[in-house]
Amino acid sequence: MHPDLEALLALQERDKDVGAVKKAMEALLPEEAALDTELNAHVKALEDAQRAAAGAEARKSELEARIAGYKRMQEQRRQQLDYVREAKEASALMAELDLARSVLVKEETEHLRSGDAIVEAQKRVKDATKAHEAIVAQQTERRAAITAKRAELETRLGGAQAARAEATRTVKPALLARYERIRRGRAPAALFPLSNGSCGHCHTAVPLQRRVLIQQGQSIEGCEVCGVLLYAAE
Ligand SMILES: [Zn+2]
Repeated sequence: MHPDLEALLALQERDKDVGAVKKAMEALLPEEAALDTELNAHVKALEDAQRAAAGAEARKSELEARIAGYKRMQEQRRQQLDYVREAKEASALMAELDLARSVLVKEETEHLRSGDAIVEAQKRVKDATKAHEAIVAQQTERRAAITAKRAELETRLGGAQAARAEATRTVKPALLARYERIRRGRAPAALFPLSNGSCGHCHTAVPLQRRVLIQQGQSIEGCEVCGVLLYAAE
């Protein structure tokens, strides 16, 4: 085999190592995304419950303010009643007092209900908090395992990339540039073995004369169709 091809093949092996580590790192992503989705659903449920509880509290305060307002007005009417002299005016005030009283009864019933609503909403917050805490605890171990795996892969990637850089040193610059160019293309690798007289990548037949050159290691030949570099498999 051509000595430059041997150096390129060694480089291609190092690139395969780098690629394998990167693939293993990517394989961690779906599991992590699934954990995030699961957690986010619980975070959202908790936030919704908290918002509902805050809404129930606000509703109760609003009713309290309104009831206090009604009561103040009733008090004013009662005081006015002490001063009115005319029967017509007095009866009008009495009617207002009666009407306001019935409104107040309704508001006070609403107020009682709003207290129950707060209790209910707070119970839902408690349940959602519990569920959220449970999922966080449940995920802790799995997330730690992913983090450890990623750290291990980062170390391996560093090693593989260093070995790759080392392997490029034995390849001639022009050939290295050609190799890198092919790698950026569509073929999954830059070098392919001859397979039954054809390109190992695209299966186009390679003319006998060039096959002989490849087999004798006399020159470096590329496939005329897909452009990958060809070597004779042992
Ligand atoms: Zn080809």
